Amino acid sequence: MRTNSFDATVHERLSDLGQRVLNGGRIEREDALWLFQLEDTADIFELMAWANRIRERYKGNKIHLCSIVNAKAGACSENCSFCAQSAHYQTSSPKYGFVDPEPVQNALTEAQQNQVTAVGLVAAWRGLNEGPMLDEVCDRISEMKASGKSRPDASLGLIKTQKVADRLKAAGLECYGHNLESSRRFFPQTCSTHTFDDRLETIGYLKKAGIKICSGGIIGMGETREDRCDLALSLREIGANVCPINILNPIPGTPFEKLTPLPPMEILKTIACFRFLLPRQEIMIAGGRTVNLRDLQSMIFAAGASALMVGNYLTTLNQSVDKDLQMLKDLGLDPNWEGHDFADQEPGNSGCGEKTCETATVTA
Ligand code: SF4
Repeated sequence: MRTNSFDATVHERLSDLGQRVLNGGRIEREDALWLFQLEDTADIFELMAWANRIRERYKGNKIHLCSIVNAKAGACSENCSFCAQSAHYQTSSPKYGFVDPEPVQNALTEAQQNQVTAVGLVAAWRGLNEGPMLDEVCDRISEMKASGKSRPDASLGLIKTQKVADRLKAAGLECYGHNLESSRRFFPQTCSTHTFDDRLETIGYLKKAGIKICSGGIIGMGETREDRCDLALSLREIGANVCPINILNPIPGTPFEKLTPLPPMEILKTIACFRFLLPRQEIMIAGGRTVNLRDLQSMIFAAGASALMVGNYLTTLNQSVDKDLQMLKDLGLDPNWEGHDFADQEPGNSGCGEKTCETATVTA
């Protein structure tokens, strides 16, 4: 492995690919895989420099802030191996039923004070069907919308009928979080109670209802770089608007509790590669950033990230919002979303997954 030396071939290929994306072009899988396989620190810094330019080109200095409310916690029927809220594992995660209006309104007020654009209502359950629970969920979303304090988003698991998606849209939902988690190939190693196709089906109903798609995944679950690359390509294919990247924070009691954390430079490289493949989307850094990136947290923006999950995650703590806002200010980045809309999509795509807990996402 080359270490920190200049390689003209790598330099030229990176310049060619970076310029292509800046000019509106697209990176195909062979080049994408090469990017994900880069290992040398000097190459990763050069990759990040291009990713930063791409972010600036398509996002300016705007940073989208998002927070979540844990609307129903724990005792989930699904067995996602990264998740502290699954009923299949013994963890210290809290358990409670569907949230009353007051905590949601409190979260909205806090979000507004902190310049947070969107608040996601996140529930730990398999999914949402027609019935009294859907009525209650729609009530909470309508109340969020009526408050005018923050954009109402939600991450409520699998949806099996168009009618449910249409009801959410009618209640005022603008964006739904539903992660693909990883590549189609690796997904079965993360969960066996539902499938990658179940998730695609849900996203299909949401898009048809006119709801933006927030979909990303979790890295550091033992997947390969090729899996990360294929996740990014799948997100491009489904037309996700917001792409959260969660970094596994192994939770004691879950099957992934003993996994070795990803090195920070591997995480930054992955963010940069996502920016190359998803130039116009919001690349949001969600769960796991504090614990995995430590002092390198602010480098996520230099690697191409354009959005940040702030406040506490579902099952673990984050650094304070004040600290995050100071970090943005110090970098000359602006969290004010006024007049800024969802990312434009690449030609041929139309599409905004799931919010996240520190371990990863909240599928619900
Ligand atoms: S990620 Fe979501 S669906 Fe999976 S176990 Fe956790 S709460 Fe349930």
